[in-house]
Amino acid sequence: MQPPEPPPPGPGRKIVHIDMDCFYAAIELRERPDLRGKPVAVGGRPGGRGVLTTCNYEARRFGCRSAMPTFQALERCPGLIVLPVRFDLYREESRRIRSIFAEFADLIEPLSLDEAYLDLSGRPEGGAELAAEIRGQIRARTGLTASAGIAPNKLLAKIASDWNKPDGQFEVAPEAVADFVRELPVRRLWGVGGKTAERLAKIGVGTCGDLQRFDLATLHRRFGKFGVGLYEMCRGIDRREVQSRRERKSLSNETTFRADLPDLDAGQRELRPLLDELRADLAGKAGEGRAVRSAFVKVKFADFQQTTAERRCAGVEVEVYEELLEEAWRRGGGKAVRLIGAGVRFEPQAPEGAAVQLGLL
Ligand SMILES: [Mg+2]
Repeated sequence: MQPPEPPPPGPGRKIVHIDMDCFYAAIELRERPDLRGKPVAVGGRPGGRGVLTTCNYEARRFGCRSAMPTFQALERCPGLIVLPVRFDLYREESRRIRSIFAEFADLIEPLSLDEAYLDLSGRPEGGAELAAEIRGQIRARTGLTASAGIAPNKLLAKIASDWNKPDGQFEVAPEAVADFVRELPVRRLWGVGGKTAERLAKIGVGTCGDLQRFDLATLHRRFGKFGVGLYEMCRGIDRREVQSRRERKSLSNETTFRADLPDLDAGQRELRPLLDELRADLAGKAGEGRAVRSAFVKVKFADFQQTTAERRCAGVEVEVYEELLEEAWRRGGGKAVRLIGAGVRFEPQAPEGAAVQLGLL
């Protein structure tokens, strides 16, 4: 049976995905022209748990990648220059770039400091023309390069921004969607990781064109709700809107224990892995380079009552969390504990208006 014709992918929608090229490393290289042409990474120290946050293309040629442990990257590329992360600087640069976006689009959805979707549907100019102009402004005002994808929806725009990276752009026009997705590896689809790709390979699916041979009911049976998403995505359909994202106010992790913890000593032992996880999240995408305002510990007792202890604090300090846990624990009056959470609250970011002014300075 032939699959039904897909509905037009939102006629007139012009979505642009802008992705800065090796953002953190590119900023550092701009500040240090003497390092140009050399393999450079930004990230944690080689000892212990340090990982690379970003690296430039010279370093990638040696097989270095972001999120790779620094010691491993140095094995692959002994000449690699690893610079410490300077989030304040990257945040400031990101604000400048967002203020450029705001001159072109009302609807902006930042995904991280260096990536955003722009909905330019209301503009009379062509999407590719606008994307080129935005990239030109970014280069002129920051000295940094960006890549862009232009498409009728977020899914395709994000895939397309990778097509001519670095310092390039690619457009998937509405009439080109069908051809574009036919040869597209399913691995490029949103939410398709290694496991799903393997399962798809087992039923003979490598490309979106292969996937289009399966009807909706079959995909739903095999993949559940995600199967419905697959059915649409492999036809280049994505109904998600560009959403100006609300600012993340906090970040935390928590553990519910299989058996309730009887005393504070047991609680303190469980705190350590939570703090490690929190530090890793803060260093990664979830942290977005935000400044920490306070630390908090949440405790839920065996009777499901819960309490939170909080203190102003600029980072994740073990002693502070131990004291907060003790404070929260005491409020239970000796009750056993079923859950512990540890987190940070962020300093609010500058409001849009202020960011725009900052960019104009
Ligand atoms: Mg990027």
